Amino acid sequence: MNFAKACEILSQHFSNLTKNQDGQLASYIPELAKVDPTLFSASLVSIDGEIFSVGNTDQTFSLQSTSKPIVYSLALRELGSDFVHSKVGVEPTGEAFNSIIELEENSHRPFNPMINSGAIATTSLINGKSYKDKLNLIIDYVSELAGRRLEIDKSIFESERATAHRNRAIAYLMKHFDVMTSDVEETLALYFNQCSILVDTRDLALIAGSLANQGIHPLSKKQLISKDHTSKTLRLMFTCGMYDTAGEWAFRVGLPAKSGVSGAIFLVVPGQFGLAVYSPRIDQHGHSVRGRLLIENLVSDLDLNIFSKG
Ligand code: GLN
Repeated sequence: MNFAKACEILSQHFSNLTKNQDGQLASYIPELAKVDPTLFSASLVSIDGEIFSVGNTDQTFSLQSTSKPIVYSLALRELGSDFVHSKVGVEPTGEAFNSIIELEENSHRPFNPMINSGAIATTSLINGKSYKDKLNLIIDYVSELAGRRLEIDKSIFESERATAHRNRAIAYLMKHFDVMTSDVEETLALYFNQCSILVDTRDLALIAGSLANQGIHPLSKKQLISKDHTSKTLRLMFTCGMYDTAGEWAFRVGLPAKSGVSGAIFLVVPGQFGLAVYSPRIDQHGHSVRGRLLIENLVSDLDLNIFSKG
């Protein structure tokens, strides 16, 4: 892939989309409804470490559900795939990210780690001597992938914790079925914290770039995620990362991606580059409107869909 050409096409589509005002700010986490809806940024990171950013590039935003594949890869490292998947499945649901009823029939496992139930169950597996140790493990891991020390937005964390009745219901249901054995409130606090980690698009594109590079960070060149865990993370992002539009995404884009209700989406083009987009107005599925369009247009122009050659 010609990086300069990809940057040029990205810039073109970016400016074409600046006027688009479709979608709404997420409001079920009150703090997310306070952001400037016009914010828009994107970063591209090649596996060789070339970086290109456009728009409000200094703007940070909370990871929200883009944290799910990252913490999933940490759980794989800490506990191994067999154990993790004895607790959480690998099946897409066709349901919204915050669906309450979605647990597998006999095992009561959540269907996959990319929806809230599965992500909360995955976070509950992270081990540590104390709550603080577990939280530090998560922050250290995400920070190393971003290549700098990341912070948590405490007001977003508190805002979600105070209003997360639906996630609380999901977590207590899993506790009821013994799929989650940890303390519910502590696990939820860890999960809300991971969702409240602040990044900019460069940070998120470096994380995506590491996943595009078989787990090797494009700048530090360190193997931060094993090849096997990178591969498993990408498979689940591909099949489940976009929730109830995962099928449409596979059809139109044909590449692994993950979105978050803050308006972030990251895309992985294995062996080529990682892309992160931030634009906080989201559609009814929880995907950034401009983020989705930017990715669709870029992927189409560069003919990146893995099935495009038939
Ligand atoms: N923290 C959010 C939640 O659990 C994340 C959801 C999302 O980004 N889709 O509801």
